Amino acid sequence: MFCPTSHPPEVHLSVSSRSYRGRHSGRHRAPSRGLRLPRAFGAGFVLPTTAAAALVVTATGASVAESAAPPTFDLNGQQTAMARTQEAADEATSTEIAVRRADAALSSAALQGRAEAQQRAARAAKRKAAQEAKARAEAERRAKKWVRPISVWNVTSNFGWRWGKNHDGMDLGAPTGTPLVAMSKGKVIKAGWEDSFGYKVAILYWDGSVSWYAHMSRIDVAAGQEVLPGEQVGLVGNTGHSFGSHLHLEMQAAPTGDNPLDPVPWLKDHGLW
Ligand SMILES: [Zn+2]
Repeated sequence: MFCPTSHPPEVHLSVSSRSYRGRHSGRHRAPSRGLRLPRAFGAGFVLPTTAAAALVVTATGASVAESAAPPTFDLNGQQTAMARTQEAADEATSTEIAVRRADAALSSAALQGRAEAQQRAARAAKRKAAQEAKARAEAERRAKKWVRPISVWNVTSNFGWRWGKNHDGMDLGAPTGTPLVAMSKGKVIKAGWEDSFGYKVAILYWDGSVSWYAHMSRIDVAAGQEVLPGEQVGLVGNTGHSFGSHLHLEMQAAPTGDNPLDPVPWLKDHGLW
């Protein structure tokens, strides 16, 4: 009649063989009275869909001859219910998948957004650090440059023997009130009156050089103060043992003591001569 293995197994008849043996008594009374099926159609038997419909007709036809009550074996209804269940399950699954995908897309977008924000922040930080490093380098370069203490460069007396004794510095003639500036980055180690020097400012520079400015008419800095190249420290004057307005510039070998150096070689070494 039909071969059970020649069709795809779509429907499983979960009726027990006992139910179909036509025994009507007891708790295992079959819902379809009098229906008889061959033993081969027992529990677990796989009934293909198309074959199932044919079987119902055949089985029903057979049982009708033996029983007054026609069987109500509603395989089609069962199939429809199963199909509906499957449909609902499929729908639920696809809805769940869609929700999961949406969630995944959202969290992926959020993660990507965060990652991009982090990358932007990292790039900005890197740019800022580079700018700061450049600014520091530029500031350092500017801080370490050397400038003349006075814009008017008029040497009136050199370092060396003069009037029976050593002249410990170089005299640069300039009008009183001419601005005097620090020659480079350094620290003021003295600012005040000192006997024949009159008003005097001593600066220790970043490379260890020490300058003394004497006979000043005004002092604009205090001892301990940091100065930068070109920063005004006071004004040219004629104070102390001085005959005429000028800057007495003295270069010292050390921050302490009195060991004057000839300013000219020093000025040459520092590109100021
Ligand atoms: Zn002098």
